[in-house]
Amino acid sequence: MASTAYDWIHQSLNTIHKAHWYRAVESLDGKAGPVMTCQGQPVVNFASNDYLGLAGDPRLAAAAIAAIQTYGTGSTGSRLLSGHRDLHRQLEAAIANWKGTEDAIVFSSGYLANIGTLSALVGSRDLILADQYNHSSLISGAKLSGAKVQTYQHCSIQDLQQQLAAGRSQARRCLIVTDSVFSMDGDLCPLVEILDLADAYDCMVMVDEAHGTGVLGQTGSGAVEALGCRHRPLIQMGTLSKALGSLGGYVTGPAHLIDYLRNRAPSWIYTTGLSPADTAAALAAIHIVQTEPQRRDRLWQNVQQLRQALQLLIAASPSPRLTSLLPSDSPILCVEAPDAATVTQLGQRLKVAGFLVSAVRPPTVSTSRLRMTVMATHEPLQLRQLVKALQTVAIASSATGHLP
Ligand SMILES: *Cc1c(COP(=O)(O)O)cnc(C)c1O
Repeated sequence: MASTAYDWIHQSLNTIHKAHWYRAVESLDGKAGPVMTCQGQPVVNFASNDYLGLAGDPRLAAAAIAAIQTYGTGSTGSRLLSGHRDLHRQLEAAIANWKGTEDAIVFSSGYLANIGTLSALVGSRDLILADQYNHSSLISGAKLSGAKVQTYQHCSIQDLQQQLAAGRSQARRCLIVTDSVFSMDGDLCPLVEILDLADAYDCMVMVDEAHGTGVLGQTGSGAVEALGCRHRPLIQMGTLSKALGSLGGYVTGPAHLIDYLRNRAPSWIYTTGLSPADTAAALAAIHIVQTEPQRRDRLWQNVQQLRQALQLLIAASPSPRLTSLLPSDSPILCVEAPDAATVTQLGQRLKVAGFLVSAVRPPTVSTSRLRMTVMATHEPLQLRQLVKALQTVAIASSATGHLP
């Protein structure tokens, strides 16, 4: 067969397979919740971002259905042309009110919020300082902005300070950008110290609350609240797609910042407005988060229970397959394994045992790990059963002595 300009794609796919980096989708059936169906088999879901169990809540579904009946399925245009509805403003007002900020802007996804905001805020004469473990959308946004991008060691205030001392004066504007809760580790950024450095070096700070929103803080508004930073100058971003059970992203902060983004963020200006159903579902979710703190209480009780049980497991039955529990301040709990092959095998065996746990490997993260996310709607018994299954698969794979 004659060669074509597209042959390289086969070769690239082969390389991906050889490196064990190949990934494919797998269908989960049934309504979003702590138990779902995978290839006909029930699995307890420890791989979801639906921390409060709202994605399957009938009140979100009712709000989405009502919005579709009122407005139709699509918002039919970009927000500045024909796609803006009063519902969007209601959602933006609810976010700003909840976060204690002046205004908010909703994007069609968190990914779009990050790339649009970063590319609007800084350009070629500017400097971005980014935590090395930041989410992929922040990395893409930083590249897209055209600014000089430097990463600092994960959560290292010392490294950040040194880079500011060395490079801040050569840049026009400087933006420090970080996840609040790190999505693949579960730990928290040192936000107070970062804000203090930003004050000292005249920098803006943008914090990604994708995994903090709905989960952390007295009112569930996020890590910014939990760390006592609501009053400080700050650009807060988050998603509607994790604890809020819908789809979309937002940025919230001072009114002039939001007004500027409405005029300068291409991923907001040139894309179709968030759908009425997603908008209404997110609005209903924020109301529930604000009026039902007991969901958050349940979530944190579950987190404590699973964390303690995992600590005990690793201390009491040491296995070369499960090396340590990573430090976490969130419902994201990770147990490290020595290598990618081990973690993949453990993940597969857990699935056979009826537990869906993500096996996260390099290059996504620096070290292989089982990543478990806790939901408010998990039953204590399901958490105990997970730890028991983990113990069984870790011992079983040790006993076989060899790995693929
Ligand atoms: C999921 C996630 C995003 C992207 O949000 P989407 O709404 O899913 O596009 C951005 N940042 C972090 C840290 C995330 O975990």
